[in-house]
Amino acid sequence: MSESSLRLVWVYPDLLSTYGDQGNALVVERRAVQRRVPVTRVDVRSDHAVPTSGDIYLIGGGEDRPQRLAAERLRRDGGLNRAVANGAIVFSVCAGYQILGHEFINDLGRPEPGLGLLDVVSTRGEGDRCVGDVLADIDPQLGLPPLTGFENHQGITHLGPTTRPLARLRVGRGNGTGDGTEGAFNDTVFGTYMHGPVMARNPHIADLLIKLALDVNALPPVDDQWYDALRAERIAAAVQPA
Ligand code: GLN
Repeated sequence: MSESSLRLVWVYPDLLSTYGDQGNALVVERRAVQRRVPVTRVDVRSDHAVPTSGDIYLIGGGEDRPQRLAAERLRRDGGLNRAVANGAIVFSVCAGYQILGHEFINDLGRPEPGLGLLDVVSTRGEGDRCVGDVLADIDPQLGLPPLTGFENHQGITHLGPTTRPLARLRVGRGNGTGDGTEGAFNDTVFGTYMHGPVMARNPHIADLLIKLALDVNALPPVDDQWYDALRAERIAAAVQPA
């Protein structure tokens, strides 16, 4: 990572950017700039190589077919795996989360290899799609307030021994396994089912990624009143659905 600026990479906006997930890039960028950290944001379309020199990579959700195409291209490209080997941070949402695991079930009903960056395997849920507002307590190790988000997925994600659940559910289906977990993380790679976009609902996650990238323990405070209002509204909706 360069000393003074943050290289933010938004992976495959043409294939993976449902439910406003591009907002995640906007929020990370904005919160870095508010701390006077210069940001270079690169949006990498799926017909381009993924740069290996980024500090933070964001990857969003997608429909089943674009998800398969994205997995094929990311495997062939290899850039995201090389970036993680170099210490990069990755934050992934829904289809992106499934792609980072070892395997998921693709749109043809067949097992599709993922990138193996998270020790998770995704299958297809037999029951209803998981849809709705979610509220969950983030792993205390990360020191963050509750996670709020919106989920819409058929996939179910099983965690392996070298990954930890990102959060424990209060409301919603999360990983969908019925074990009360939502998302997964290891040292530098994070996955969640939360759209919203998740960074707009949980700006402290954006701050966590920035802190990890800059290798600092704290960032100067910024005015969070709009985020707080959105959080309060969505948490109330999750706890007491209309
Ligand atoms: N296609 C995947 C699923 O349904 C991911 C959906 C999404 O990214 N919203 O599980």
